[in-house]
Amino acid sequence: MKSIKNFKRDRPTIGVLAGWSIPEGSRPDQYRGLVVKGIQSAARNRQCNLLLSWGIRRIYQIDQFYSCWPDVAPETDFVPVGPWNTDGLIVFAPLGNQKQSAYLQQLIAQGFPVLFIASGEDGPNVAVNNKLGIHQAVSHLAEHGHRRIAFLGGRPEDKGDSTARLQAYHSAVTEHGLEVDPKLVVWGWYDFTEGYKTMRELIRSGVKFTAVVASNDASATGAMRAIQEAGLKIPQDIAIIGFDDQPGAIAQVPPLTSVHVPLTLIGEQAVLLMVEHIQGLAALESIEVSPRLVKRQSCGCIPAAVFSAADGGSSDKIITVNGSAKLDIHEIQGQIVTKMLIALPTELRLPSGPQIRKTATLLVEAFYTSLKQNDPTHFQTAFLESIHALEIADASIDYWQEMISILRREVLQLPLFIKTSKTRQLAENMLHQARAVIGESAQRQDQRHQYLRDLDSQALNSVTAQVSVALSDAQLIELLNIHLPEIGIRHVKLMFFEAEQEDPVAWSVVPSPLEDKSLDTRFRSREFPPPGLYEPAEVLNLILLPLVFQSEVLGYAAFDANDIGACTVVATQLAATIKVSRLHAQVVELSLTDPLTSLHNRRYLDLFLANEISRGHRFSHELSVIMIDIDYFKDYNDRFGHPAGDEALRQVAQCLSNDRRASDVVTRIGGEEFAIVLPETDINGALKCAEKLLTSVAAISNLNRSITVSMGIAVLSEDIYKPEILLQQADQALYEAKKTGRNRICIYKEKITNG
Ligand code: GH3
Ligand code: MG
Ligand code: MG
Repeated sequence: MKSIKNFKRDRPTIGVLAGWSIPEGSRPDQYRGLVVKGIQSAARNRQCNLLLSWGIRRIYQIDQFYSCWPDVAPETDFVPVGPWNTDGLIVFAPLGNQKQSAYLQQLIAQGFPVLFIASGEDGPNVAVNNKLGIHQAVSHLAEHGHRRIAFLGGRPEDKGDSTARLQAYHSAVTEHGLEVDPKLVVWGWYDFTEGYKTMRELIRSGVKFTAVVASNDASATGAMRAIQEAGLKIPQDIAIIGFDDQPGAIAQVPPLTSVHVPLTLIGEQAVLLMVEHIQGLAALESIEVSPRLVKRQSCGCIPAAVFSAADGGSSDKIITVNGSAKLDIHEIQGQIVTKMLIALPTELRLPSGPQIRKTATLLVEAFYTSLKQNDPTHFQTAFLESIHALEIADASIDYWQEMISILRREVLQLPLFIKTSKTRQLAENMLHQARAVIGESAQRQDQRHQYLRDLDSQALNSVTAQVSVALSDAQLIELLNIHLPEIGIRHVKLMFFEAEQEDPVAWSVVPSPLEDKSLDTRFRSREFPPPGLYEPAEVLNLILLPLVFQSEVLGYAAFDANDIGACTVVATQLAATIKVSRLHAQVVELSLTDPLTSLHNRRYLDLFLANEISRGHRFSHELSVIMIDIDYFKDYNDRFGHPAGDEALRQVAQCLSNDRRASDVVTRIGGEEFAIVLPETDINGALKCAEKLLTSVAAISNLNRSITVSMGIAVLSEDIYKPEILLQQADQALYEAKKTGRNRICIYKEKITNG
């Protein structure tokens, strides 16, 4: 049993890796999005640290995966989520390549906890029972009378779910004695466009089939478009069933029947199992999650509401139970509620179970009261209230259709209240109304979701636009702090890589929010997060994404947020902004530099001096300027040629820069004229400095002949606010030095004096 002390931090830390990446600037598909949601919420509930990484695929290299990986390799991006800073890894399977599989197998062999999501890798996993799901779909289509059922597979080379679902299709078809034809098996690549293209080709090829089972909803909806474009009707000409039952399934026309996979639950289960394992409470063993077929209309089923209205007179189905009238009414109600709850998918039953049971109980009671009083008002009021409460909580509403079906089935079996045809009619009417209300409400929920998505993407667009104007890291950090909370990202930290010997990602540098490189935080990348980066008590729930610009990996960003999709879009934009701001800084640097001597130029002097003058006044610092001009330099040029003159200028520049303090700035302001700004230096200091330079320039040895300079010094006084005044004074002193014989220093005072 592991003790608390052995955790990498003060509580268990779980890392998440994935074999795939999200294309630049887009959001993860709903499958990944929902599993991640489950992972995040379970980590939050369990109060464990979560470091969730995800790769970003380059838009111009869609054949490469670029997943995030703890190892430095050309085909992956490094972010610091690995065995060195986590207590266990949850990994999305299958992986992109053999090397990644081998890396994890090695960790497993060393006893490091690794748990996979989905099948395809060796090791414990949390996966959906693919066989059960596909069998449900095929057998349902067989019940509808289909004999030739096509299969839209996942990826041909994918060793995980794709293979399992294909095998399940084969076994289901054989089991039901349906027609086996290799031409009926095609690939949809889990993708809308590929599903569309593949289905279009299948229809054109003339292969006969009347139904399709797809490996996921995205490829199924693509196939639906191809079927409808070919002038065929769903489900009359071709019936179709998807897999996953993502939120979009119900929005299709006709609504897509799909094998529901409790994706959020898969993520939650993975975290719970991992935490218990890390704490020494459970072994890491595979968990299989059961899917269930959600029948809508694309398979050929008729909507429940129509069914119930047309089915009003099935009185022969009523089973008369002798003596049932003696049963306790509360007991009967309780039994009905339990049956209704079984209709709910597991993930709805679990977290909100008690609330749903309460609602169902209220409804069943209200239903009975209405029947007893022969007045629908009671039930109508209770039902509307419940539906509104569900809407406000943004809970799944369409499952209530099924719960109403069960209520109807159970009630009609009871002779207790359905004594007269009048009562029976009332019961049917109330149930019919309830179905209409559910339908309307589900539609409203769909519209609301669409509306909220639109708002979200507008907000995201506006935030990325606002952040993109930053021209420095510090500005960027400031803008991020202001704008990211608007889109639900609580905070973000940016880290840039620094190489050390062979390791390109050895160090991480967190830029300081002030424009001062000396305040940056620097730490060994694999020790993320270093002490002090986050509050010690903070439970980390972080999404780590690489900052990638074209082929260059700049570093990574650690987001504290729920929506991985928004973070991906922001990370892509951030990388571009950082790159642009660095290029901008380079351009600025170039425009302020003298190409011959690499010293700063006149423009820089003006900017720098203005800044120093105001600092000097603010903090009552001294400030001196030395203006320098080479003596008889025209003569030097004339005698030895222009190239030799250039070389002499470089030598003098070098000499002036030697032994300078970090705060001093040496500039070349014209042909053979230089200026040195000496912050926090009084006249005595400036004079000493000038004297030294006078000697050292004269001593430069490798010139065609020795060179001397003349200098003028000016010191900041209370009445000087503009750089040009101070420079003019230094220039006047320099003029004086020239006039009085050169190779000397003059100081500007009210009246210039020789130094
Ligand atoms: P003084 O002692 O009065 O300063 O005389 P000077 O000859 O140094 O001054 P003047 O202003 O007459 O001439 C400056 C000369 O500096 C003109 C030009 O030949 C030379 N010069 C200016 N810029 C460059 C340059 O970029 N490269 C080279 N090789 N020479 C330059
Ligand atoms: Mg000169
Ligand atoms: Mg000159």
